[in-house]
Amino acid sequence: MGIGGKFPLAGVKHIIAVASGKGGVGKSATAVNLALALSARNPAHQVGLLDADVYGPSIPTMMNLSGQPEVTKQNLMKPLTNYGIKCMSMGFLVEEKAAIVWRGLMVMSAIQKMLRQVLWGPLDYLVIDMPPGTGDTQLTISQNVPVDGAVVVSTPQDLALLDARRGVEMFKQVGIPVLGIVENMSVFQCPKCHEQTHIFGHESIQNMCQELNLDILASIPLDIRIREASDKGEPILITDPEASLSKAYMQLAEEVVRRIPEKQQRTAKAGP
Ligand code: ADP
Repeated sequence: MGIGGKFPLAGVKHIIAVASGKGGVGKSATAVNLALALSARNPAHQVGLLDADVYGPSIPTMMNLSGQPEVTKQNLMKPLTNYGIKCMSMGFLVEEKAAIVWRGLMVMSAIQKMLRQVLWGPLDYLVIDMPPGTGDTQLTISQNVPVDGAVVVSTPQDLALLDARRGVEMFKQVGIPVLGIVENMSVFQCPKCHEQTHIFGHESIQNMCQELNLDILASIPLDIRIREASDKGEPILITDPEASLSKAYMQLAEEVVRRIPEKQQRTAKAGP
């Protein structure tokens, strides 16, 4: 039995959910780079990436993967691998747009298959790229597998933060510790004059974190290289591991790893 009576995934040590209140704030880009940074910080570690956004899978493009998974004799799907990361996505399983009309039950069944009927193990970390918001997928995952912690990605403007708060509240209600916040698109540096502008503000996210007693795990600038990397399927951590952007993602991975045992210890201490 795993944490809270949920069943662990065979051979998977830690599960980390990357979530956001709103779409388009950079959750998938963060999930991809977090997975790569977890792998880079310790090459002996095996890392997987589950694209749980059934309606709008981005991982095939961002990880430059296509095709269908092989199925083993035990009827398990083999994840597709690129840059050393084992990936699974609805984008590998159905035609583009086919899942758009799916109802909740079909989505939940697809998520369960992508969790249980995939040859994930052995993995040190499985990063789950959640769909935006607080719907069926989030509940299915939190009720089925022991998620060690969630990272909530938000841009720093008030409108996105309102939804990020809802995300944090949902994880609280389902008993998943929130490891912290990623402030994405935090600052824009003009490539010509190098002036830095907080396009989406900065104070509100700091205030929210203080109020919710959460830390900002990393601040990722608004940078065209991230968008280009996502579109080309060539993540910056692979093409330019020494760039300051890559270092920001490495810091995120460090913070995430540091907080997993802390939180587990706290849970263990709180028990009877
Ligand atoms: P979400 O998963 O929240 O819907 P994505 O990760 O798909 O968002 O990001 C939306 C778009 O913004 C993508 O084109 C992505 O490459 C881009 N993007 C994400 N983060 C950044 C950033 N820090 N700087 C520039 N572009 C970014």
